[in-house]
Amino acid sequence: MGKASESKARLSRRSLLLGGLAVAGAGAGGYALMSRPKTASAAEREEMLAENFRGVPYWWDELGVEPPSQGELLDNVDFLVVGAGFSGLSASRTLAAHGAKVLVVDAERPFYGASSRNCGFFGQAFENVDDISTPEGRAYFDEFLASSAHLRQLMDEDGIDAAVRYGRYHVATHASHFDEMKKSTRKLHDSYKFRYDVIEPGEAKAFFNSPSAAQGGIFMPDAPFLQPARLSYGNYLGAVRKGAHIVGNTRVVDIEREADGRFLATTSRGKVRARGVLLAVGGYGAPDFGALNNVVPVHAYHIATTPLTPEQMASVWKKPMTMNNSKTNFEIVIPSPDATRLLICGRTGVRYESTEAMAVDLCRVAREMFPQLGEIRAANGWQGIFGMTFTHDKHLFRDEEGVLYLTGDNGSGVGRMHWLGHKAALQLLGLPEGKTVSAKSEPPPTFPLYFGGSDWFVPGAVAFYDFKDEFNF
Ligand SMILES: Cc1cc2nc3c(=O)[nH]c(=O)nc-3n(C[C@H](O)[C@H](O)[C@H](O)COP(=O)(O)OP(=O)(O)OC[C@H]3O[C@@H](n4cnc5c(N)ncnc54)[C@H](O)[C@@H]3O)c2cc1C
Repeated sequence: MGKASESKARLSRRSLLLGGLAVAGAGAGGYALMSRPKTASAAEREEMLAENFRGVPYWWDELGVEPPSQGELLDNVDFLVVGAGFSGLSASRTLAAHGAKVLVVDAERPFYGASSRNCGFFGQAFENVDDISTPEGRAYFDEFLASSAHLRQLMDEDGIDAAVRYGRYHVATHASHFDEMKKSTRKLHDSYKFRYDVIEPGEAKAFFNSPSAAQGGIFMPDAPFLQPARLSYGNYLGAVRKGAHIVGNTRVVDIEREADGRFLATTSRGKVRARGVLLAVGGYGAPDFGALNNVVPVHAYHIATTPLTPEQMASVWKKPMTMNNSKTNFEIVIPSPDATRLLICGRTGVRYESTEAMAVDLCRVAREMFPQLGEIRAANGWQGIFGMTFTHDKHLFRDEEGVLYLTGDNGSGVGRMHWLGHKAALQLLGLPEGKTVSAKSEPPPTFPLYFGGSDWFVPGAVAFYDFKDEFNF
């Protein structure tokens, strides 16, 4: 009796151990599979990509201008700004407008990063709707709207033609999302009056013709979108006109504080001394700096189709507009400024073996979205990286040495990173107008099991989101 139960206990401990090992092994195997970069066969590339496919942003081709890649490096300035995207260019414009001697350096060419690769949405949004019931949430949302007004003023003052157009359709991918959307839009509208139309499921096909948009949605006719590379180039010219000195191909690798209180930055091209430093490196530079350990670089993807016929374009919608759907890992559709191509953004966070493999995958998404277009192909494919924080907050903070950091755009920065760049400049100048509720003034917090500098959890999160989007829970 005693012996039998002992061996049973031993057996169950052993089976528990074996079972545990099997689960762990399956988990590790599954995770390795999920993390493996996606590939595309030669036949798939042949079928989905244009003959002259280009692995660069369509926005760059449409802009048609290469910014100067390198200029003379100044060795002694009032302020050094690291990163020449929306954040850094906006900051440098304000600093130079206040008479400061400013040097902006970028590791690549100016505005190489997310600022010239994004979807160009700004202004009206569906975000933070729950928050507007608290004074803090309202102040945050008010500043969000102020940031859009600031961007418009900046474009006016600098004469920037960023191909601004209007009309955003928020598509419900499930009936329950549609009900939620109607509620939250009404709530937002009660506080902030803006025009919107509810597109009922029965009208959905005539409004936006895609099988995945059959549940209806909300259309905001005044929601703006723009060509981000045109905006970036305009920012660049505007900052240069104010007196900022901007150079590319210059990577900052270290910043230290000297005995006299000034900063000494070591770059790939030499040393720079400055009274103040702003680090605005987006998701691209996050792994380089310890203070940005809790900023996760997230990869987001785009394709642009080859030119479509007017009949094909007309088969997509009632009129050209942007579309974003209600999936957790959502997709976006944007018409090119000349309304001849579709730009599709999606599959955020997925790992690909190459730009071509990504473009094949997104082209497949586009074909499923618009079967009426037949065998459309990708003419351009590109990725952009944004900096994610675990709380989804933006952060404008100083490290213990006094370097100022602007980070955590979380994929939403066309309006707000201009605004925060401007605020960062005012803080560097010691002006009280630098106060902002759009960003936290301490470093981004960490998350359990996150050790900094790695995005090991992203494939798992993407798989979970895909599952959630498929089964709607
Ligand atoms: C695919 C995609 C779609 C998006 N869509 C939208 C949208 O529709 N609406 C919206 O509001 N936001 C959107 N965003 C987010 C928006 O693009 C960003 O918030 C914004 O561009 C961030 O600007 P930034 O200047 O902070 O960073 P970036 O534009 O990324 O600039 C950072 C720069 O720093 C440079 N750098 C990095 N490390 C160093 C170093 N060590 N030394 C020197 N230079 C360095 C990089 O080369 C880069 O040019 C999107 C982002 C992506 C990726």
